[in-house]
Amino acid sequence: MNCIFCNIINRNSNAEILFEDDDIISFLDIRPVNFGHTLVIPKTHYENFLAVPDDILAKLIKTTKLLSVAIVKSLTPDGFNVITNNGTAAGQSVFHFHFHIIPSYDEDDFKFKLNLKNYLDSSMREYADKIRSEVNS
Ligand code: 5GP
Ligand code: ZN
Repeated sequence: MNCIFCNIINRNSNAEILFEDDDIISFLDIRPVNFGHTLVIPKTHYENFLAVPDDILAKLIKTTKLLSVAIVKSLTPDGFNVITNNGTAAGQSVFHFHFHIIPSYDEDDFKFKLNLKNYLDSSMREYADKIRSEVNS
């Protein structure tokens, strides 16, 4: 398996590393939405959010907060997005799980301005019922 993020972890590829411990590494995204766009990843290769064990996920989210605080203090953006893309349909292009931290500015052109749908008739309840049936199963 040739994974660009594993190569960064193993020092076979260069990256601007911001943080590292036994389980996690964080570095700048090479093609930032805004400058300072940061990735936070587990050192073990997991393909996506669902594949990451809970204990590692807990460490990842704590580290994502630590890096978010550092970005807010150092770059003083107007806001920031924490996102994770899972699956090609959701925009995932590197199949080694990662959180994105994206600093945002009032005047920039990166906004979640989505084409929002309306639920029709009883379909909101039907979607909720489908999801609820799996929540506690
Ligand atoms: P995804 O599209 O999977 O959510 O995000 C993958 C991210 O990895 C992209 O934003 C892309 O710019 C970044 N990326 C891809 N290759 C490299 C690389 O070699 N080095 C770094 N630092 N980032 C990369
Ligand atoms: Zn990997």
